[in-house]
Amino acid sequence: MTNEDPIERLRPAPHNSATTTAAGAPVASDDFSLQQGKQGYIGLHDVGLIDKLAHFDRERTPERVVHAKGSGAFGIFDVTEDVSAYTAADFLQPGKKTPVLARFSTVAGEKGAADTQRDPRGFALKFYTEEGNYDMVGNNTPVFFIRDAIKFPDFIHSQKRTSDTDLQSFHMRWDFWTLSPESAHQVAWLFGDRGLPSSFREMDGFSSHSYQWINAKGERFWVKYHFKTDQGIGYLSQAEADKLAGSDPEYHRRDLYQHIQDGDYPSWTLKMQIMPEAEAENYKVNPFDITKTWSQKDYPLIPVGKLTLNQIPKNFHVQIEQAAFSPSNLVRGIGFSPDKMLLGRVFSYPDTQRHRLGANFEQLPPNRPVVDVNNYSHQGPAAMEFNDPSVPTYVPNSGNGPTAQPELSAADLGRWEPHGDEPYRGYPLEHEDDDFWSQPHVLVREVMDDAARERLVSNVVGTLDEVQEPVLSRVFEYWKNIDGEVGAAIEKSYKDNH
Ligand code: NDP
Repeated sequence: MTNEDPIERLRPAPHNSATTTAAGAPVASDDFSLQQGKQGYIGLHDVGLIDKLAHFDRERTPERVVHAKGSGAFGIFDVTEDVSAYTAADFLQPGKKTPVLARFSTVAGEKGAADTQRDPRGFALKFYTEEGNYDMVGNNTPVFFIRDAIKFPDFIHSQKRTSDTDLQSFHMRWDFWTLSPESAHQVAWLFGDRGLPSSFREMDGFSSHSYQWINAKGERFWVKYHFKTDQGIGYLSQAEADKLAGSDPEYHRRDLYQHIQDGDYPSWTLKMQIMPEAEAENYKVNPFDITKTWSQKDYPLIPVGKLTLNQIPKNFHVQIEQAAFSPSNLVRGIGFSPDKMLLGRVFSYPDTQRHRLGANFEQLPPNRPVVDVNNYSHQGPAAMEFNDPSVPTYVPNSGNGPTAQPELSAADLGRWEPHGDEPYRGYPLEHEDDDFWSQPHVLVREVMDDAARERLVSNVVGTLDEVQEPVLSRVFEYWKNIDGEVGAAIEKSYKDNH
């Protein structure tokens, strides 16, 4: 495999040279297909024409089911602090600098959707580390709508389009949310100011999930990542966003690229919440429930380093559309946690990439690690990399093929107490806190001020026009559970206007 700089590895297109077929043979015309006579049939043997049309017919990769509309840029991650007491990950050691690809996206919109929709933003990072790729596939919110991957397809169906008219529907969304009360924290966050960022630069990024960090002594910590924007938080009012959706649907993409091109590089300071392994058992909420935050009063943010984006893509399709991020891409010193959404994503992300980009998607330029890849997987569509021919295609072998390292135990993917071995569907009994409302209540009542609450009420009411009973009454009830006053204000405002 190549050791080229991942940012620089696109071969530049030659200028002022002859147009050729994909096989490299010059073509006779860019403008005219080959006919027999001036009005005759077109020749199937005009290979330049066939090559051009056939490739055009295939130039879309399937759109991502979620996070389809995205924008990306390259940059660098600098470790400015010493967190070696918590993780042995090589790229997190003091002074390390690692090339990074970042992709920001909306969740529900299709590839051509407006950037300024109220929606969580994807905040996906690929670190090209010297120990393999590490992906942090987060969002701009610290929580999520659901906490078990088994509900994810249903949640996304409710965000997408109705089967009959192919329209998006707030009736569907509120139906799903109000029947899934674990969504309340994320929904409260979404309808607040930060649910509609003014740019990708002016929003934070969160792992949302809890992960495990493992230090050189084998000690384990539960961690959450917070990428805090150095630009300051910015948000759009609903009216501003609605206007921009019509006048400049690419508003966020343009903003990102313009600032980078102008040398005004956006940056984020990575800060961590770190919980010693043993404290998880008795923490006041289940620390692996992605609908909950860990209070920063209990686990204050510990600085680690700085992410700076300084290069826009040279080719959007190759470098951004074909980028495949997955929480399954881990490196030594980082492990998973019992978060059931995370464990579902660890399967689902590479699965969807194999469907979208093919079995060899890791060989595409934005996905190739900067280290050697040595294994016995081979062939499949669009295979580009291959082992030295002296290396057998199987293991064990008598040749000089790579061998696994038994000293790396299964625990390097993360280790935790399963609490019994009976088949079980539910939440850990010791954390049986179906308290869906306390944390969103604190957000709405203590973090937001009066003006922010008024905007929240207006943002919610603006989505209720098409919502029918019994869902409508459930919406009022849902918000009253979060905050009595806010719920009453939503109901009153709706009834005053309908
Ligand atoms: P803190 O007072 O320590 O933290 C409050 C957090 O809320 C800060 O991260 C702050 O970000 C963020 N925040 C401020 N305004 C908004 C807004 N309009 N929408 C969303 N987030 C906002 O308290 P706790 O850690 O105890 O958390 C209290 C509540 O804050 C939680 O219930 C949760 O809803 C929310 N929250 C918590 C986070 C966490 O990881 N603990 C992260 C984000 C939100 P900043 O410092 O940038 O202003």
